[in-house]
Amino acid sequence: MELTGKTALITGAAGGIGSAIAQRMRQAGARVAVADVSVEGIEADAHLPGDLRESAYADALPQHAADALGGLNIVVNNAGVITRGAVTETSDTDWALSLGVNVEAPFRICRAAIPIMAARGGGAIVNTASCWGLRPGPNHAVYCMTKAAIASLTQCMGMDHAHQGIRINAVCPNEVNTPMLRSGFEKRGFDPDTAVAELGRTVPLGRIAEPEDIADVVMFLASDAARYVCGALLEVNGGKPVS
Ligand code: NAD
Repeated sequence: MELTGKTALITGAAGGIGSAIAQRMRQAGARVAVADVSVEGIEADAHLPGDLRESAYADALPQHAADALGGLNIVVNNAGVITRGAVTETSDTDWALSLGVNVEAPFRICRAAIPIMAARGGGAIVNTASCWGLRPGPNHAVYCMTKAAIASLTQCMGMDHAHQGIRINAVCPNEVNTPMLRSGFEKRGFDPDTAVAELGRTVPLGRIAEPEDIADVVMFLASDAARYVCGALLEVNGGKPVS
């Protein structure tokens, strides 16, 4: 997938999936702006650190990326947080954090990016939702709700902005071998390597996803190969849908 001459903003670029997306896009020829709480040491063409819970930062991010890169063709809203537990175990802090990072920040970034892209004839936005946004799993009520929200917003925006040449889609991974997943195992007292191997045996393909498996699908959705794909929620699950 060729991205030569394209410019891309990627949030959550210091994380497992985000760093794989940034690497893949640069290898494909794109100029990339990376955003995360800390972006030190990440190879990129622009570094835009900040906290996505700060509305002014999220609102300004697309313009900052466009200024730094000389345009904005691609936005990947990939940053995310996971809060665990049923609603009765969810604090106000967890609620605000989950909504703020997983829903409000992508909303703000899309709202700001769409006019910038439209003024230059179009672009592509890829949001990282989750299989759990399509069919929820147990004991992650607010996380699942935020991923359903971003999935729905993606479908709406995919319809509403196609006429401007802007394609907006979401990738919906199942389990991916990243710090987000591994930290959950650690918190519950499991060895992450053993837990990842065991979880892999529950997947028809025989392993859970690596970040690059998701990054390649994001690359497809961001590239001209997906030129007729708008508002899609693309499930990437190794044959293991959440039932
Ligand atoms: P990760 O924890 O490795 O990366 C997430 C990144 O988001 C981190 O670098 C973190 O610093 C950043 N981030 C979080 N809060 C932020 C904030 N307030 N401001 C700026 N940046 C912030 O996790 P990952 O697995 O790479 O997750 C990437 C995306 O994929 C997330 O949206 C996640 O919900 C989604 N996802 C992950 C899995 C999985 O199994 N790992 C499955 C489905 C969906």
